[in-house]
Amino acid sequence: MRYISTRGKQGAEGKSFCSILLEGLSDDGGLFVPAHYPKITQEELDEWRFLDYPALCLEIATRFIGNDIKRDELKILIDRTYSERLFGSRDITPLHQMEPGFFLLRVANGPTLAFKDIAMQLLGNLFEFVLEHESRTMNILGATSGDTGSSAEYAMRGKQRINVFMLSPYRRMSPFQQAQMYSLAESNIYNLAIQGTFDSCQDIVKAINKDHHFKTQYHLGAVNSINWARIMAQMVYYFKGYFAATQNNHEMVDFSVPSGNFGNILAGYIAKCIGLPIRRLILATNENDVLDEFFRTGHYCPRSVEKTYSTSSPSMDISKASNFERFIFECADRDSEVVHGLWQTLSEKGGFNLTDARYAKVWANVQRSGFVSGRSTHVDRLKTIRDMFERYKEVVDPHTADGIKVGLLYRDTRVPLICIETALPAKFAQIIEEALGVPPPRSPAYEGLESLPQHFTLLPAAPEEVKLSIKSSIDLNGQQ
Ligand SMILES: *Cc1c(COP(=O)(O)O)cnc(C)c1O
Repeated sequence: MRYISTRGKQGAEGKSFCSILLEGLSDDGGLFVPAHYPKITQEELDEWRFLDYPALCLEIATRFIGNDIKRDELKILIDRTYSERLFGSRDITPLHQMEPGFFLLRVANGPTLAFKDIAMQLLGNLFEFVLEHESRTMNILGATSGDTGSSAEYAMRGKQRINVFMLSPYRRMSPFQQAQMYSLAESNIYNLAIQGTFDSCQDIVKAINKDHHFKTQYHLGAVNSINWARIMAQMVYYFKGYFAATQNNHEMVDFSVPSGNFGNILAGYIAKCIGLPIRRLILATNENDVLDEFFRTGHYCPRSVEKTYSTSSPSMDISKASNFERFIFECADRDSEVVHGLWQTLSEKGGFNLTDARYAKVWANVQRSGFVSGRSTHVDRLKTIRDMFERYKEVVDPHTADGIKVGLLYRDTRVPLICIETALPAKFAQIIEEALGVPPPRSPAYEGLESLPQHFTLLPAAPEEVKLSIKSSIDLNGQQ
């Protein structure tokens, strides 16, 4: 399989899976996407229904990796990743029925209690394999609003040939999230706490990646949500959830997904594009509702850092959804000129509007895509957490609550509704206590986490300062 850029020249030859695995943005500023999408046949879907998680992942991954990694080698990496030991059950992402037709897909049972482990654990093993193969080293540079960072660090800790430099918004994560990241003591993990929001962290990563000299000299790589392999890995649980919620492959389902960087729901969209019978993709935002506004009005207008609110579902406090460009690329019938133009308008005018007549086709495709959206606020979150507990004895985390709130708004009892559980409530104790009057359940493995010593470097929101810090760490400690 070859990969092309959303802003690249049409007809460009593209890159291999292994080379884009280790890169972040394309040199032209676009995102990598497969040169074409595989189509899953009815027969394949019928066979896949009976596969366990690793086997299903292997089928999907081989469609996107092609011959870049041999199937038997890939199988070893996948089997090592999706184990009961790491994810708590052989199902990996068990489906929980709240009531007939209303399900919770539990994708947050990995080591850091958020769905990001699903992709990141695989990425850790893929990275190690490819770097070893090519006798290379890599310094991962990433930005996190809380969950990506810890998930990446837990997937990469102690790995050969890899250092992680993770930017996080200082004091804008939950105490549990912060402790989870900052308590890691592995010498290949560097926590850079930035005085700013997640968007400032993400902007710094983008700015540093534009410095080609620095990027090459320090072997920078990415794990943030624009990494294609993460999207690929996340597709698997849409299939798994679909099979678990239905009797046969003629049924349709709706998925509801709490969204921030548009990575999770994009995986669902691509699953739908390649042939999974998904009817609706219900996108839920919190008070940072740029994406909801887009799907309702056609207006895409990312907010400034000052207008990005700190909310009680902090992993969605994002106003510039980095994966969104991949979706627009498809809706523009893969015309990179159109994408280029839209992003040009975005940087000049701060937004674009697809209801403008010249984008009529793009907007029509958006409306045909199956997406609907809604927004959930702190008050909704509290109410949903209480409702779920009273009705079903389930404690859900605030992000999951946002997804459930909007999911139920669009509920059609003729079609199963699968809400994705993106984190466990233990990570966000404060709002759970506010809603239920008691702290969330926490497994014994996480007792006392917040009182462990924390390791981080505090830095201003300035790319040059961050570069200096990376440079001195690498110069001091050398590459692993
Ligand atoms: C990352 C995250 C989200 C947002 O997912 P995107 O892929 O960025 O849209 C939602 N909930 C939780 C708990 C997360 O960690």
